[in-house]
Amino acid sequence: EKEHMTPAERDIDKALRPLSFADFTGQAKVVENLKIFVQAARRRGEALDHVLLHGPPGLGKTTLSHIIASELDSGIKMTSGPVLDKPSDLAGLLTNLDPNDVLFIDEIHRLNPIVEEYLYSAMEDYKIDIMLDSGPNARSVQISLNPFTLIGATTRSGLLTAPLRARFSINSRLEYYDAELLTSIVKRSSALLGAPIHEDAAFEIARRSRGTPRIANNLLRRTRDFAQVKSNGTIDVEIAKFALNALDVDHNGLDDMDKRILSCIIDKYKGGPVGISTIATACGEEAETIEEVYEPFLIQEGYIKRTARGREATEAAYRHLGKIPPQHAQA
Ligand code: ADP
Repeated sequence: EKEHMTPAERDIDKALRPLSFADFTGQAKVVENLKIFVQAARRRGEALDHVLLHGPPGLGKTTLSHIIASELDSGIKMTSGPVLDKPSDLAGLLTNLDPNDVLFIDEIHRLNPIVEEYLYSAMEDYKIDIMLDSGPNARSVQISLNPFTLIGATTRSGLLTAPLRARFSINSRLEYYDAELLTSIVKRSSALLGAPIHEDAAFEIARRSRGTPRIANNLLRRTRDFAQVKSNGTIDVEIAKFALNALDVDHNGLDDMDKRILSCIIDKYKGGPVGISTIATACGEEAETIEEVYEPFLIQEGYIKRTARGREATEAAYRHLGKIPPQHAQA
């Protein structure tokens, strides 16, 4: 998702990012625990234990990782699973960490298995074996690393191998935000953007943001455009509704792809059950994206059920699309 941002969007994304625990809204339980662990590690002068953050995209995993490093008063290096191609890429990062620094690996479920093997000893003993030379001169040397904290982020914790998962002693799951929390995030962001917003307009954007701060911030920025061009720049509820409709975000916050997925299950597969790869082909989207981005929200909101035989559309899905659920059609 982040790869699709333009540089200007990335700058704004950064500008809106909370910088301390106090600034971070929501995820109360996760944050309370992290605060304790960070404080304890600081008092002992040790590296914080390794942290796994999981949950759908846009909920604040990267943001929290920066906050953890900053509250530890430590440096942070960022990378991602698919980027770490070979063990030497990992070794290069690890050997450049200062004591108690944070290494953030996004999409950690997509690590190359060979790289992952190397990570085990690094996480456990702060040691890494690297091969020097190849062929007859090849030899392996062990390098001691500075103590560090690995923060792994993943949208798919189910895809992590058991040995990797076992090496994270702090494991936090981020949840979708409710409309109230998102309203305060939207208000905070509009203040930072210098865009005046009415309370009910902030709420309207919040409740149509799929429980996700990144989406709330995106919709706020687009709504600000409408307010500046079509009105006097203040975001009121009329302009918010106008903008959200123009952006094809429906009144429950479902976007185009959400609706395409639901109609596909209902119209092409009689409401299911149907497999994820079949849905993906029919909707022209990758199965992985549907599983990571769309499906968790549709399940949480009660539009889709996950069964052993595949995905099924619920009554709520039929109603939402203005269709008659099958049980009722037969009656
Ligand atoms: P993830 O790493 O889980 O995909 P990010 O940490 O990149 O999500 O968050 C996406 C954007 O959403 C950030 O730029 C930040 O501005 C905003 N954001 C996320 N969580 C919060 C929060 N709790 N409060 C305010 N803004 C948030």
